[in-house]
Amino acid sequence: MVLEHARGLGAPPLIEVVALKDAVGRVIAEPVRADRDQPPFDRSTRDGFAVRSGSFASGATLRVMGEVRAGERWSGGRVGEGEAVKIMTGAPLPTGADAVAMVEFVEVVGEGIRTVAGRGLARFENVVLRGSEARAGYVVMAAGTVVGAAEIGLAATCGRAELTVYRRPMVAVIATGDELVEVGSGRALEEEEIWNSNGHALRALVHGSGGFGGKLAIARDTLEDVTERVLQGRAWDLMILSGGVSMGEYDLVEEVLAGLGAEFFFTGVKMQPGKPVVFGRLPERDGAKACYFFGLPGNPVSTQVTFHCFVEPFLKAMAGGVVEGPLFVQAALREAVPGSTGRMRFLPARLGRDRVGPSVTLVGWQGSGDMAANARANCYAVLPQREGEFAAGEVISVLLR
Ligand code: AMP
Ligand code: MG
Repeated sequence: MVLEHARGLGAPPLIEVVALKDAVGRVIAEPVRADRDQPPFDRSTRDGFAVRSGSFASGATLRVMGEVRAGERWSGGRVGEGEAVKIMTGAPLPTGADAVAMVEFVEVVGEGIRTVAGRGLARFENVVLRGSEARAGYVVMAAGTVVGAAEIGLAATCGRAELTVYRRPMVAVIATGDELVEVGSGRALEEEEIWNSNGHALRALVHGSGGFGGKLAIARDTLEDVTERVLQGRAWDLMILSGGVSMGEYDLVEEVLAGLGAEFFFTGVKMQPGKPVVFGRLPERDGAKACYFFGLPGNPVSTQVTFHCFVEPFLKAMAGGVVEGPLFVQAALREAVPGSTGRMRFLPARLGRDRVGPSVTLVGWQGSGDMAANARANCYAVLPQREGEFAAGEVISVLLR
């Protein structure tokens, strides 16, 4: 359902130009084209000798005419039969030559080189031909590409110091709960109060998914307060609420949203943690635009797991990226885990990096409020309902974060 709505979003309305250093995590709004043929000349990929491949017969001796380095062009005329030019990696192939013999495969003898017997040289060996990576004007990155280091490197390869990207969607982050206090507020906590951690975690998650998260004031568990905050939040591109979506008497989020005419696409999912998550849209009304919202359970680990499963794909699409679901990989369980016939479980876990095939270990935890366990984890192990145990070595799905 989330992906269906994501597909209906269309391209983000606003674009901006940012310097390469500020482009990480953004989504490009215009294709990036090769500014010239890539590579711009027939380029040697090795240190060695530029020769005519035909004259590199086994045991032949070739006369070395000079050398060409990266950033230079060979000015000594055509390379003829029986001739060689010493060449460095990244240097243009001299005219006449059609291959590079690696330095490891020749013997230097006086003014010349002798090839190693039994080793031929194919045409264009150790040469990348002009334009073979991209022709001038060719689209090397399509609009919708998320920018990481590889994309920044490619943009710079094409002479770009800036990129045109979509504006980050503006996301209102609303924490609800009478027990919540803002960190940094200068206020000491009563024993029964807790810090608003979700507001901060959600803002970070929003940023990592290509959005800009703005933390609105905490909504207290009253109809008036939640309503006021939702009316504020609906002016943003997307609204994420945390807490107040369970079955408790003071869980007022759905009631408030319903009262404002919200359409709910789902109001619960068969997963643990995360059951009460809601996804919906406030309609266009009284001059206010329509606004999608997610209501996430307040337990901090539930908040984060459901963000990755549902909000992240939607937000990435809102940011102009391709529409795709969360990223799952397969990994072998290191240790057996008891089965459970309840809902499908998403448990904090660590993917190991010490083996070629990924392996995963559960992190011990005290349930969906355990933020320390969540921080020790680097993924969530996905365990479907089952009576029997999950054996050590069994391959399971893992949700990456
Ligand atoms: P709720 O979904 O509102 O019933 O909250 C479930 C649990 O999550 C309760 O233990 C809350 O205290 C906790 N919780 C709710 N919101 C937050 C928040 N913003 N930061 C940290 N913990 C929260
Ligand atoms: Mg609450």
